[in-house]
Amino acid sequence: MSNKQTMSFQTEIKQLLNLMIHSLYSDKEIFLRELISNGSDAIDKFRFAQINDPALNKGEELAIKISFDKDAKTITVEDNGIGMTYDEVIENVGTIAKSGTKAFLENLSGDSKKDANLIGQFGVGFYSAFIVADKVELITLKAGDTTSNAVKWISSGDGEFSIETVDKIDGNGTKITLHLKPEQDELLSDWALRNIIRKYSDHINYPIQMQKMPERDEEGKEIHTNELETVNKASALWSRSKNDITDEEYKEFYKHISHDYTDPLKWVHARVEGAQEYTQLLYIPSKAPFDLYDANRRYGIKLYVKRVFIMDDAEKLLPNYLRFVRGVIDSQDLPLNVSREILQSSRDIDAIRSGSTKKILSLLEDIAKNNPEQYQNVWEEFGPVLKEGLIEDNANKERIAKLCRFASTNNDSNIKNTSLEEYVSRFKDGQDKIYYITADSYNAAKNSPHLEIFKQKGIEVLLLTDRVDEWVVSHLNEFDGKELISVAKGKLDLGKLDDEKPSEEEQKQQDEKAKPVLEKIKAALNGKVKEVVITTRLVDSPACLVVDNNAMSIQLERMMRQAGQEMPSMQPTLEINLKHKLINKLENSIDDGITNDLSLVIFEQAQLAEGIQLDDPVGFIKRVNSLID
Ligand code: ADP
Repeated sequence: MSNKQTMSFQTEIKQLLNLMIHSLYSDKEIFLRELISNGSDAIDKFRFAQINDPALNKGEELAIKISFDKDAKTITVEDNGIGMTYDEVIENVGTIAKSGTKAFLENLSGDSKKDANLIGQFGVGFYSAFIVADKVELITLKAGDTTSNAVKWISSGDGEFSIETVDKIDGNGTKITLHLKPEQDELLSDWALRNIIRKYSDHINYPIQMQKMPERDEEGKEIHTNELETVNKASALWSRSKNDITDEEYKEFYKHISHDYTDPLKWVHARVEGAQEYTQLLYIPSKAPFDLYDANRRYGIKLYVKRVFIMDDAEKLLPNYLRFVRGVIDSQDLPLNVSREILQSSRDIDAIRSGSTKKILSLLEDIAKNNPEQYQNVWEEFGPVLKEGLIEDNANKERIAKLCRFASTNNDSNIKNTSLEEYVSRFKDGQDKIYYITADSYNAAKNSPHLEIFKQKGIEVLLLTDRVDEWVVSHLNEFDGKELISVAKGKLDLGKLDDEKPSEEEQKQQDEKAKPVLEKIKAALNGKVKEVVITTRLVDSPACLVVDNNAMSIQLERMMRQAGQEMPSMQPTLEINLKHKLINKLENSIDDGITNDLSLVIFEQAQLAEGIQLDDPVGFIKRVNSLID
């Protein structure tokens, strides 16, 4: 009885397959790298399984075998790794388990060059086989299963696959046979395949074996043998000496462990000796992965113990704010049976984590110092995540603060390239504070009325527009002994920078004079604001909203509301500019209707400038129109 079933791919896979075949055609050789990479991962997992179940170890050599058949026009990639069960085959090569797939597909532009990069970043994996093959056959047996439980999967990459249970007598592992498209004959040669293996997969830990090349006898006739030979170096790259590893090898190794198709930006490779002995090879990617903010993201640091793979994505090995880093850590001291639970509370792991964090921070400092342009790229990709470190990693807060870059009123662009050190070096005479504003966007920040007095006096203000910035500034109260101050909070105190401060007597007179208009507005706003006061921060605008020093900023309050949090309604203070025409108009108004409308409009304008959604937008429009009339 046949148990063969035909199933459809997920819609996303069909889309991805089409795109991949078109976009990556010029890089078609990578299919072999991807399949070898999967084979190597599968052997890693099998070795790990043997630690817990020694009976799985039959003493055979763990290797990946590559062969081809010129007549049948096939290439076969075979590993004796962990294999897959029936359900795993469906899960792994019938669906896309990867998080962020939808977002990824939405990001594609249709421009095949750009898309090739994106697809590369996403990681191509098993399906890259369809770049060169029009039919792929996979037979796999899960380690520990009986031979009759093997699974055969066949697909032509056209939307469907068949799956059935079969026998596999040569043991656990996965054998993938690619039936090449007609125009791919050039791949069917010893030289072509060896070249591709050496180019992309030399660093793989396990032997990649091919049948020995035929020798020629005295008469020039080819003598074929069935003997295998290892084509790659087959040693753990990170355990080799730095001097013996080329940049190309480092890059290819990165692609293998990160499933990223783009070259990494930088890496650090070091052997640490001391209380803990371990080797680290850590990479900074050149692009942020799609799932940087996805709680289910995969890939991070691979943990090995004495070169035996233990686990992927060992999140305890680096703090969360360095989650964009990829790499390998190989410990000499941890037990082979270390589990995620043990990692949670292991002092040894804490030491490795702290050492690795320092290494990455040094690497970032090095890029920032020696290659600011490259650092700009790092900051654009990973800045918002790295900034989380100011909240998460108190011990390294100072170092992280130095690595931060912000947009600033010092330049006319939205590029985030001002460091706190640079800001301080540009302090005006008498300045002792670092001023910033938080807003939803660069334009909202740059044009905020809160900046008017700063612009007039030529005082630089940092423009903070990342979502995480609100939390960042609530944790970063000072830098290098200088307080960080929001220009939109509390009473503005410019200290020695305020050279036009009125005398106490003048101030008193001014307050007395302004009292009636302040009261008029307060009455008209009828409980909408806490207070109406004279401003010292405005030059051109009639009014702005200010919250208390220790209150949540208006932006943060809005973000929390958007995130569905119940928030008590906060009453800001309305600061008004006595020199403004509209305020003068209010002072002179004797018509209650106009006084009310104008007060409300001034308040609503101040709300709009903060990016607040008006309670009654239509009412606002009517009020403005009646005033223009
Ligand atoms: P990725 O390797 O990025 O996860 P792939 O599409 O290459 O994506 O593979 C999907 C999954 O299929 C892998 O994560 C793995 O679980 C499984 N897989 C692929 N190839 C093999 C193999 N040779 N042996 C065992 N499992 C495999």
